[in-house]
Amino acid sequence: MAENSYDLIVIGSGPGGYVAAIRAAQLGMKAAVVEREHLGGICLNWGCIPTKALLRTSELYGYMNHAGDFGLSAEKVGFDIAKVVKRSRDVSKQLNSGVGHLLKKNKVTVIDGEGQLAGKGKVNVNKDGKKVGDFQAKHIILATGARPRVLPGIEPDKKLIWTYFEAMVPETMPKSLLVIGSGAIGIEFASFYRTMGAEVTVVEMLPEILPVEDAEISAFARKQLEKQGIKILTGAKVTKADKGKDEVTCTVEDEKGKSQKIKVDRVISAAGVQGNIENLGLDNTKVKTDRGLIKTDGFGATDEPGVYAIGDVAGPPMLAHKASHEGVICVEKIAGNNPHSMDKNLIPGCTYCQPQIASVGLTEAQAKEAGHEVKVGHFPFIGNGKAIALGETEGMVKTVFDKKTGQLLGAHMVGAEVTELIQGYVVAMNLETTEQELMHSIFPHPTLSEMMHESVLDAYGQAIHF
Ligand SMILES: Cc1cc2nc3c(=O)[nH]c(=O)nc-3n(C[C@H](O)[C@H](O)[C@H](O)COP(=O)(O)OP(=O)(O)OC[C@H]3O[C@@H](n4cnc5c(N)ncnc54)[C@H](O)[C@@H]3O)c2cc1C
Repeated sequence: MAENSYDLIVIGSGPGGYVAAIRAAQLGMKAAVVEREHLGGICLNWGCIPTKALLRTSELYGYMNHAGDFGLSAEKVGFDIAKVVKRSRDVSKQLNSGVGHLLKKNKVTVIDGEGQLAGKGKVNVNKDGKKVGDFQAKHIILATGARPRVLPGIEPDKKLIWTYFEAMVPETMPKSLLVIGSGAIGIEFASFYRTMGAEVTVVEMLPEILPVEDAEISAFARKQLEKQGIKILTGAKVTKADKGKDEVTCTVEDEKGKSQKIKVDRVISAAGVQGNIENLGLDNTKVKTDRGLIKTDGFGATDEPGVYAIGDVAGPPMLAHKASHEGVICVEKIAGNNPHSMDKNLIPGCTYCQPQIASVGLTEAQAKEAGHEVKVGHFPFIGNGKAIALGETEGMVKTVFDKKTGQLLGAHMVGAEVTELIQGYVVAMNLETTEQELMHSIFPHPTLSEMMHESVLDAYGQAIHF
């Protein structure tokens, strides 16, 4: 094969792109990844990982401020925001170079520059206005990710109105902050900044925060966040942001048209993301897009033969593990294997605020809407020995079963470490587990996971510890 020819070229090296390229190499393909910025994409550099590093700091800071609850004394607890940010950036750097090593180990070529489709099986790559090269590939995967959605009139300016990029690297700690949007990104930043001492207001257009979660879970999370001092305005939107010298005055309007002005040091705009589909050379292809996202067939194939799309650019849920899994499925299909198509119902979602939130499958409302007669189980953290020992008694595990078949339809959790627990239910759902099998499973004691067992038992009137 000629030097610039590949079996597969992936444009974008986020968790979708780099995983797809590595799997392709494992399957014997000659693979390359084109990346215009940094290996690992948003996830490793500006998303999942650096936020979790920041949230680890705020979690520890929160515990230190309650040291007395554990019989400890911690005086003059404070922080240096520059060091907090540096730690987060260092964690990202470590993983970014880790991706570089993995690609090298798997003999995936990394092409530094911006990739563009340039006719059948062709990719042009440019960097800073200069041509890097023309490349050929039998298959091309677009894994170009997404960027913050801009609300008209509230355009981010990097200084007073931030997106997640600036919110991740504050030079000073704002005293007050308004977060637009209460999805996972907005709520994680709200949680970080509040725990670090800022006055935080969250404004959400919909009636509840974390709108994709089960209504009971988002209501529970809301109460906990409000208890921590976060002000939450739902059914409301920011209609105007007047910038001063070092502050922003936001006009917030509720559903009835009543408006109020809220003056804050900084605004974080976290009202969703939009796909990176511009300058990709899509115009001369059959690739179809819908509201800025590329349409695919469930295996990543677009309407243009040989061109595929995965990850955020191929639509929701905008999650790293969805991007990676889509990458693997897409490459397996290209290789002629027989992968399962993506079942979006089985993609877990996690929010790493305090308390954490994690879920998989149908909410109770969705299950009923889909025509299921349901049995629902609950178990509160206060009934679990490990949770009490940890000093983490606020939380709940909820399970939703089909009444007729006993199939687990969904699981929803709020509380400490639930983002680590949810995987148990994900495996169960993948195996189409019923209530009987879950009841017969033995959970180790003392663990938070026992609540997962108890929630199942509760759905069938058999919970022991509550
Ligand atoms: C603050 C924040 C927190 C998040 N937390 C989580 C979390 O906890 N868990 C989770 O699952 N998800 C989380 N996400 C979402 C997650 O980051 C994305 O779903 C994931 O990164 C999508 O992966 P991707 O491969 O599709 O694209 P990306 O990670 O966006 O990568 C795309 C890459 O393509 C490159 N690129 C774009 N166009 C071109 C081009 N023409 N040529 C060359 N390169 C190009 C970009 O530079 C980028 O590196 C978070 C996101 C944010 C913003």
